[in-house]
Amino acid sequence: MTTTLNLPEADLSPLDEARAQLRGAIDFLELSEGKYQMLANARREITVSIPLRRDDGEQEVFTGHRVQHNFTRGPAKGGVRYDPHVDLDEVRALAMWMTWKCALLDVPYGGAKGGVAIDPRNYSPAELERVTRRYTSELIPILGPEKDIPAPDMGTDENTMAWMMDTYSVAVGHTVPGVVTGKPISLGGSHGRREATSRGVVDVALAAMESRGLAPERSTVAVQGFGKVGRGAARFLWDAGTRVLAVSDQYGAVHNPSGLDLPALEAHVDRTGSVVDFDGSDSLDRDLLLELEVDVLVPAALEGVLTRENAPRVHAKVIVEGANGPTSAQADQIFKDNDILVVPDILANAGGVIVSYFEWVQGNQSYWWSAAEVEERLHTRMLGAWEAVTSYARAHDLSLRSAATIMAVERVAEAHRLRGLYP
Ligand code: GLU
Repeated sequence: MTTTLNLPEADLSPLDEARAQLRGAIDFLELSEGKYQMLANARREITVSIPLRRDDGEQEVFTGHRVQHNFTRGPAKGGVRYDPHVDLDEVRALAMWMTWKCALLDVPYGGAKGGVAIDPRNYSPAELERVTRRYTSELIPILGPEKDIPAPDMGTDENTMAWMMDTYSVAVGHTVPGVVTGKPISLGGSHGRREATSRGVVDVALAAMESRGLAPERSTVAVQGFGKVGRGAARFLWDAGTRVLAVSDQYGAVHNPSGLDLPALEAHVDRTGSVVDFDGSDSLDRDLLLELEVDVLVPAALEGVLTRENAPRVHAKVIVEGANGPTSAQADQIFKDNDILVVPDILANAGGVIVSYFEWVQGNQSYWWSAAEVEERLHTRMLGAWEAVTSYARAHDLSLRSAATIMAVERVAEAHRLRGLYP
């Protein structure tokens, strides 16, 4: 049986996409309209103003959000994004996807997401520290290791988490490392957290390639995004022998039909801050990267990049979603018709939150695992989820996205049923 969506003419916003996916799962599971309403809306949302004193003494005000979509299976969990396009609906969608991701991977959390509408490239580290501390202090009543645990996302990193942890700890009067994950290792971070999302993407990419008879050393890949997720994904696929034909970042894209030299490209990016003008490559239109003749495409940048407009021109046989929400429902349908396998975000990029969970567990026990242990446990969980989702999809004739969403929604709905509705 296949879930059918009533697809509209145009691509939807991320929130409408997320709600349409939920609707498909609710219908498949024959759950009530009340359940849909409960899960389509966040449990708690907060919007704050963040006044910043600039280094030159001028003042500027930013808007920040934190959306806690669900706490039924445990504390809310999810990253904080610094990006000029952040708005409340986007954060709502991302928070909902975190709930499904945590449920699918069976980590004991609900879902949340935060964001500040700021372009971090235009501000000094001292300014970003002040923004982070003010944003955190506005959220203190709703944060905590048993309430809501932020982590890095687009535009934020382990320094951001150190400032959040410190601001929260100073306010409550004692050090609380478990209030965030993705911390620096010297503050209780976990080995392997930094590259966890990329490692997880590559674990499932290799499994998906195998399922399509694509041997890594005879396959090619294009990666959109060369940040926390895309850079590691390109590198680990290159380590596995796959030829990386093209990568892009926010400044442009580079291409080499015989494969990019990844270590040299990394050195170039460390030196110049961008992939652009890398020796041993031609420049490429960023949008055309998605349409290259490659075996595997890894969108690892923004949501909404694969649309009804460009999907018919995608040549990859496998798409592995490093980003959250890169594919519209319309594009999904086109990929299905063209027999392109899509490994959905809530499965493909779950490595980050899995190692966030490992960081939280290690912190609770004050006992630290080696990098090799973290990597092995991550690998086991990713492959376990891959097996579970692919066999559910096969058994019910579903796409991997529908299968993953249905499995996740079923777990959350079951937890809710057992807890009951209060009062
Ligand atoms: N921001 C990452 C994500 O979208 C990680 C979240 C976390 O570790 O809590 O999955």
